[in-house]
Amino acid sequence: MTSSFHAPAIAAIATPPGRGGVGVVRVSGGNLARLIEGIVGATPRPRAATLVDFRAHFGAPLDRGLALYFPAPHSYTGEAVLELHGHGGPAVLRLVLARCIELGARLAEPGEFTKRAFLNGKLDLAQAESVADLIDASTATAARAAMKSLTGEFSRDVQSIIQQLIELRMYTEATLDFPEEDIEFVRAHDVAGRVAAVQVQLQRVLARAQTGALLREGLTVVLVGRPNVGKSSLLNTLAREEAAIVTPIAGTTRDAVERRVEIAGIPLTIVDTAGLRDTADPVEEIGIARTWSAVERADLVLLLVDARDPPDALPAEDEALLARVPNAIPRIIVHNKADLAGVAPIAEARETAGTMLRHVWLSAKSGAGIELLEGEVLAAADTGGATEDAYLARERHLVALRSAAWSLTAASAQIALSAPPLELFAEELREAQVALAAITGEFTADDLLGVIFSRFCIGK
Ligand code: GDP
Repeated sequence: MTSSFHAPAIAAIATPPGRGGVGVVRVSGGNLARLIEGIVGATPRPRAATLVDFRAHFGAPLDRGLALYFPAPHSYTGEAVLELHGHGGPAVLRLVLARCIELGARLAEPGEFTKRAFLNGKLDLAQAESVADLIDASTATAARAAMKSLTGEFSRDVQSIIQQLIELRMYTEATLDFPEEDIEFVRAHDVAGRVAAVQVQLQRVLARAQTGALLREGLTVVLVGRPNVGKSSLLNTLAREEAAIVTPIAGTTRDAVERRVEIAGIPLTIVDTAGLRDTADPVEEIGIARTWSAVERADLVLLLVDARDPPDALPAEDEALLARVPNAIPRIIVHNKADLAGVAPIAEARETAGTMLRHVWLSAKSGAGIELLEGEVLAAADTGGATEDAYLARERHLVALRSAAWSLTAASAQIALSAPPLELFAEELREAQVALAAITGEFTADDLLGVIFSRFCIGK
């Protein structure tokens, strides 16, 4: 694709706002000759760092730094790209950017460089999305998973399934086109067996993508329990495991009820319901309403009780809190202060209020049994696979993979019939293929592209 080969030049500051040793202005476009001449004079040798002055209109230097020139198509975007590595101050970078605009470039929209890379076939859509995910990754595990998607591992596995679907469709459609090639033809090529093999492969990809989505989105875990049962202590103990990673969530720094911790690379947002008491203060009320909406979207509830209490009866207060949590949210009963109760840490299934629930005995204070709780949290989250195998997938990808899995389930039921409805079977295969192709962006509506790229940062 060369659709944007003559696209107008775009420019942006590619480094984050603020002061730093180095700041980069990036320009990409169909023809940069005039712009390059205007700002750095002679065209730098391709792909070689060249020390130059960046110059204003009448030749006055704006900054001195490195110019890197990547002629098309061997660049990130597939267009001619100029990178100006100057000093990392906001004012000087704005001057250099303004000079590029003066020379004909326009300001880049968020994600526009990557969008051009996609349109020029440098990256497929899943890879382009992983660029933003790598930048946004909040944990090392998430960053590694994003790299798997960026290098195309995810796309290649999806492509391999698409290829097999295409072959299956060829066999089936040959039979439809030439009725003399009857069902025996399909049988002879073990179409049913191949569908089953593709299903297995798809399930494996889905599990890895699900784990990846978890690494990206994290889990919201709600802590419920009476005052003094040890909620803050548990939070601190969980947080201490990864002390460096505990950060207040952006924009909610005053919301002390939410903390971020990490278990096995999965970011957890822990909501402490200590903040959920009844109040008449309108400001606090807003905070509480917000916390409740977080609770209703939670992935898991941890109910803390005192290990010295009888294990099967919940205190009325906790019953009331739990009653507000939607039934579909899994829950674990944590018996804290096991040290005071003289009980050794253990995790087991137990019938509670008529249902089997997981129970963990631990001591938030000493940390004994914390690893049992972590294991239970991961099991409840159904991570599907090892986090090191994950691809950093998005909800959009999961929807596509699940939809393809549904089509294949239908297809495999049809092909197992004594008189398989081959037309319907072929249609299910086609639908599975179309769903998967949306992941890599082979067939993607423009409005979806708009949504995906608008969430990038500017300069990427
Ligand atoms: P919260 O009100 O539920 O947040 O409870 P805190 O975390 O503030 O704990 C209340 C008290 O119980 C504090 O004095 C803690 O030191 C103590 N505590 C919490 N967990 C344990 C534990 O596992 N063992 C012991 N012995 N004391 C604990």
